[in-house]
Amino acid sequence: MDLHNKRVLVVGLGKSGVASALFLKAKGAHVTVSDAKSEDQLSESIPVLLDAGIAVETGGHGERTFHGQDLIVVSPGVPVDAPPLIQARALGETVIGEIELAAQFFPGTIVAITGSNGKTTTTTLAGEIIGVGGYPTIVGGNIGTPAISLVEGATPDTIAVLEVSSFQLETIQTFRPKVAVVLNITPDHLDRHRTFAAYVDTKARIFENQQESDFAVLNADDPTCADLSDRTQARVFWFSRKKGVNQGTCTRDGGIVFRDAKTQSEIMPISELPLKGTHNLENVLAAICVGAIMGCKPDAMRRAVRDFKAVEHRLEYVATIRGVEYYNDSKATNVDATIKALESFPANIHIILGGKDKGSDYSVLKDILRQRAKRVYTIGAAAEKIASQIESSAEIVHAETLDVAVKRIAATAEAGDVVLLAPACASFDQFQNYEERGRAFKQLVRALVEEMKLPSR
Ligand code: ADP
Repeated sequence: MDLHNKRVLVVGLGKSGVASALFLKAKGAHVTVSDAKSEDQLSESIPVLLDAGIAVETGGHGERTFHGQDLIVVSPGVPVDAPPLIQARALGETVIGEIELAAQFFPGTIVAITGSNGKTTTTTLAGEIIGVGGYPTIVGGNIGTPAISLVEGATPDTIAVLEVSSFQLETIQTFRPKVAVVLNITPDHLDRHRTFAAYVDTKARIFENQQESDFAVLNADDPTCADLSDRTQARVFWFSRKKGVNQGTCTRDGGIVFRDAKTQSEIMPISELPLKGTHNLENVLAAICVGAIMGCKPDAMRRAVRDFKAVEHRLEYVATIRGVEYYNDSKATNVDATIKALESFPANIHIILGGKDKGSDYSVLKDILRQRAKRVYTIGAAAEKIASQIESSAEIVHAETLDVAVKRIAATAEAGDVVLLAPACASFDQFQNYEERGRAFKQLVRALVEEMKLPSR
């Protein structure tokens, strides 16, 4: 794509929007950026953009802003059916997302990982594995560095391991990963995708430009995911923690095995995995499958997995206080992730649930709560809905805030109990984002640790 002297509009000034605008400008385009947020809210990014000679529109999108553009680059936070975008498309303007822009300029190989849960963990781990395996690897996309920022400095040998969200997949055109992974598909973001079928269709777009020389990696244990094998031209590799596979990764006699048409390799014993929970075994199986496809050797993969630490806010161990273990799983922003977190501990769990509802059905938590939870502490805007949907499965304490929840738990938990922040909701009602919520939780737990250190009177 030649951007020289082209008129380009970037909609949405998140991290990827700012990076896209600067990239486009550096390629010689006339760039305008537009965001509904106020100048104050965007005060950090505006000077950088103005300095680069980029026109900035804040506090809403003027109708004319969208007219006469050669290209519109939208941020994943902007709904694809926003009226000005529908209009722009009707006028024949090209509307793409940042991941598509990056793909058009990236000279190396792309490994893309999507799914409802486990993307960040698997992407980070796959990046480690391929890196330890000896290949020049960079990691980014929906986590850390935006894909567009990985373009500069990449060579044809570079392997980019990208976490890709369903929102990003809504705005691709030619994006063609060499290896495309779908980890699992469970209901999430139904407030934006409306139906589950529409959400699945969006995830399936990761395969839409793949050819026979590419690879698709799919979860054989997830029926929705398994059905996607019909939707790709690529060679399908499977991962499964429950059954054998003829091509891909699975478990056998307590170990992880990779198999393809020619070889079968023992990678490592499951007992060596440093991450808690069967869901993380799935993530490891997927990441090893990717590593093996990319040509990594078993011993390098084993080393990379052994050295891997849980990513912050993903079932992250915080502290043990008087025999009570505290875990921060603030990233459990949907019901399935919360089920997985609960499944990681056998019993006696004090779980904090709540936040901003995303149209979820919390009644599916009932069985596992009945089996494993000692008490549920509800917080935030979704508290009442959750309480009514999980009624009678566990004792419920209406804590309202994280602060109150942690204090109530600390007062009653006994040695051997587990405290889990895995709220099954978004955080935006009480926090900026899930990171801030997770940090607040860790802070509260650390304050408890400090209190314990005070001499008792
Ligand atoms: P994502 O980037 O898809 O949100 P993360 O690795 O950040 O994935 O994990 C998000 C949440 O889902 C965390 O609460 C984590 O413990 C949980 N989780 C991680 N892997 C899986 C999986 N394979 N299946 C279900 N839940 C998972």
